[in-house]
Amino acid sequence: MKNLTSIQSSKSKPAKLAALRQAYQAWSQEPDPLARLTKRLSTTLSLENQLEIIAEEISASIPFDSMQYRHRIARQDFVFSTGVGGPHRCEYRLSLEGNHYGILTFHRRHKFSDDELSGFEMMLSAIICPLRNACQFIAIEQAALTDSLTGIGNKRALQEELTRASSLSDRLDAPCTLILCDLDHFKRINDNHGHVVGDHILSKAAEKIERAIRNSDSVYRFGGEEFAVLLPHTDIQEAKTVAERIRGALESIRVDGGETPITVTGSCGIAAHLANEQTEQWLVRADEALYQAKACGRNCSRVFASIP
Ligand code: GH3
Ligand code: MG
Ligand code: MG
Repeated sequence: MKNLTSIQSSKSKPAKLAALRQAYQAWSQEPDPLARLTKRLSTTLSLENQLEIIAEEISASIPFDSMQYRHRIARQDFVFSTGVGGPHRCEYRLSLEGNHYGILTFHRRHKFSDDELSGFEMMLSAIICPLRNACQFIAIEQAALTDSLTGIGNKRALQEELTRASSLSDRLDAPCTLILCDLDHFKRINDNHGHVVGDHILSKAAEKIERAIRNSDSVYRFGGEEFAVLLPHTDIQEAKTVAERIRGALESIRVDGGETPITVTGSCGIAAHLANEQTEQWLVRADEALYQAKACGRNCSRVFASIP
């Protein structure tokens, strides 16, 4: 392999440099539709921005009434739509090296001609690599916010969501409540049945909590056997009901443990966001309420109460 010194000392090739200069001039001044499309796509890794560019650039050559894109990335549906559809449609399944990168559909009032269809194919072959990169970027971003054992959000995702929820709660003067839920005597489960069973119960617990809350609420793995549930637009009274539902859901877990099934319980600490409160302080108050629930015998919920 050439090292850097030998690359630097190699003689430049005037003909190649002249060709490069010519190509650069063409590329930077009057790019052809494909060059312009790929050039614009290379400026962003946002899938949404890329799809806006794709719609704009393709419609400049092949007019259409609407364009839709759908793909499932990191367990979530990504849908993009622009314009209003017509009765005629052409649909493309985007794949590269055996991997699927979504379905792109165009609609129009008038039929697409054969020339237009082959035009679509030319444009699509130019977008597939940038589109793959944007899809992979979403997947990587999502992985960085997901707990790998349970598939729910991790502590980093919670921090981001707490910050967003706090400012929204302050701005709208709307209630927002946090529940910290810690599994009781979980060390015993690990000691008696092993870590594999412990991990399985943690996954089940995450699943049960997810099912016990509304779509607008969200659950995160806050620590080892501790979960955080964020409830926007929810006051303390409603949050108490949710916490009881979570406790009931955890109690319903049954895992095969030989003669008798293994069961688990959880304790919950509840704290409503206070106006202009820092997220760290909000978490500390929920943790204080959780500590009270543990002190009161576990398998119960407690609301943070300030000391008079
Ligand atoms: P408490 O009711 O006071 O919460 O008791 P506890 O035993 O649940 O709490 P403690 O903090 O003493 O122990 C927590 C246990 O959770 C110990 C640790 O092995 C277990 N744990 C933490 N993370 C994981 C994990 O990822 N997998 C498994 N299997 N166990 C975990
Ligand atoms: Mg515990
Ligand atoms: Mg704990």
